[in-house]
Amino acid sequence: ESKSRGKNSVTFFDDMLEVKVKKEFIIKNDLVKALEKNDFSLYLQPKVDMTGKIVGCEGLIRWIKNNQIIPPNEFIPIAEKSGLILKIGEWVMKKSFDIVKEFQNDEDLKNIKLSFNVSPLQFKCENFLFNLEKIKEFANMLEIEITESVFIEDKKKAKEIIEKIHNLGFKINLDDFGTGYSSLSVLKEFDIDYLKIDKAFIDDIMSENGMVFVKTIVNMSKSLSIKTVAEGVESKEQFNILKNIGVDVYQGYLFSKPLPKEEFIKFVKSYTFNL
Ligand code: C2E
Ligand code: MG
Ligand code: MG
Ligand code: MG
Repeated sequence: ESKSRGKNSVTFFDDMLEVKVKKEFIIKNDLVKALEKNDFSLYLQPKVDMTGKIVGCEGLIRWIKNNQIIPPNEFIPIAEKSGLILKIGEWVMKKSFDIVKEFQNDEDLKNIKLSFNVSPLQFKCENFLFNLEKIKEFANMLEIEITESVFIEDKKKAKEIIEKIHNLGFKINLDDFGTGYSSLSVLKEFDIDYLKIDKAFIDDIMSENGMVFVKTIVNMSKSLSIKTVAEGVESKEQFNILKNIGVDVYQGYLFSKPLPKEEFIKFVKSYTFNL
């Protein structure tokens, strides 16, 4: 009868939960060790302007575990839950700084900006601004990427942090735009510099509705003096439509996948884009 069936399903979900918790526990412990051993790498993915010229890159973390590359989606959520993201985030900031510093010594690389991702927990942490202050020497070459979720809880606090980031000279990208729960009003309420249109909307750009949707976002951004970045551009057709709409910056496999730093440097030095 229903009572015993109910009990069985509870046991089943308990087991599932236990497996999940154990898996997370193992990853968490491995992450602590990885931090000690410095087993991370910051991959770089180029960003280009309308003419196809490389103007910047995004830093994307990878965990190198026993010669295997673990993508961020498999450990960033766990790091976020356990608070380890704060240490990882510090590593990312320091690494980003070191990279743009190194790039300053090379004519081909010195004008390439680097944006790095900042998790919601990190954004609200006291230490974040303190750490940003330490790398402000290259504030004009570094940008931060945050998601809409940082705007939902304490709006006043978020506005203050944004103002302080700007006062230090860093630009702000609003990442994954359109995928969260916040409304369009975040664009007029919060002072951001770049809006990154999520890949989901770029995937849909060949359809009439999808095109109109992106066009509306871009026009609204323009009227608010916010620059736009298209994420996940994979084809020339997409690139051409986005150019017609007037998107400012483009990122995606059409140009390159995220690359280890040395490969990124080689890529930049041999790059020609046939429009
Ligand atoms: P994101 O910040 O939105 O980064 C863009 C993701 O889209 C990257 O995945 C990138 O490799 C992928 N991508 C770019 N172009 C294309 C394309 O043309 N096609 C396809 N299919 N994918 C494309 P990745 O590197 O796996 O990163 C996933 C997410 O992990 C990031 O999304 C970001 O939210 C998070 N993440 C990555 N690095 C960091 C980090 O250093 N700190 C924090 N807090 N989060 C990070
Ligand atoms: Mg990003
Ligand atoms: Mg993104
Ligand atoms: Mg995304």
